[in-house]
Amino acid sequence: MGATRFFVSGVFALGDAVELAAADARKLAVVLRAKTGDAVEVVDSSGRSYGGTLRFDGQRVSAVLERALAAPRPLRLRVTLAQGLPKGQKMDYVVEKATELGIARILPFVSSRTAGDGARPGKLERWQRLAKSAAQQCGRPDVPEVAAPVEFRTLVAEVRTVDLAVVPWELADGRPLRERLPELIVNARTALVAIGPEGGFSDEEAGALEASGAHLVSLGSRILRTETAGLVAYAALLYASGDI
Ligand code: SAH
Repeated sequence: MGATRFFVSGVFALGDAVELAAADARKLAVVLRAKTGDAVEVVDSSGRSYGGTLRFDGQRVSAVLERALAAPRPLRLRVTLAQGLPKGQKMDYVVEKATELGIARILPFVSSRTAGDGARPGKLERWQRLAKSAAQQCGRPDVPEVAAPVEFRTLVAEVRTVDLAVVPWELADGRPLRERLPELIVNARTALVAIGPEGGFSDEEAGALEASGAHLVSLGSRILRTETAGLVAYAALLYASGDI
């Protein structure tokens, strides 16, 4: 396994000693039992990766940047996952798994059938923290943005800003994604996948999304849970775009 990776804010150069965030310093000291001289990988705000070594100084830990590392190939398709706020802790799962898969941005939204209390204070910071640690763990060079929850009408407006918007809807025509995605994805560089909350989208909401240019698609004859559907749809897009 390669060295542990950490994101740092700011843009740095070879030779710099970069202080790591307090939470990262604690993780290195307490969980990973790292010491001065251990190897580490650091990704700065511009997405550049460096190999370096750790320096412990009391509670503070810095990394001396010694080698520039090759940047991983960026994904061809930049995808936003718009997720209807689910109940309980399910959003944690969505954020972690979508980040691993390579999602560019997560946009939680509230719609007519939202039942979750997910917009509670503190949740957004928690999701952003989870996105950062999932990104560090999986080796991607960037952390996806987790936006503050928006109203349904903002989601409708978002549909117009992307090359391709795909909305899984249980009542959509059942033509397989394998047939539909290749033609939809041609020339698309940005995409949005919108997933309803546990209660799904109302007919009016599905109609409004379609009227703004979204494609209503089926994910098969089984009803998937809200936290499953987005990952499945995004995985299908990754497959169609050649990104996996
Ligand atoms: N309330 C609905 C299910 C909602 S599932 C019902 O019980 O009938 C939550 C979301 O997952 C849906 O809004 C949709 O975006 C997506 N989804 C789940 N299963 C799907 C399927 N088979 N096809 C398309 N979308 C699906």
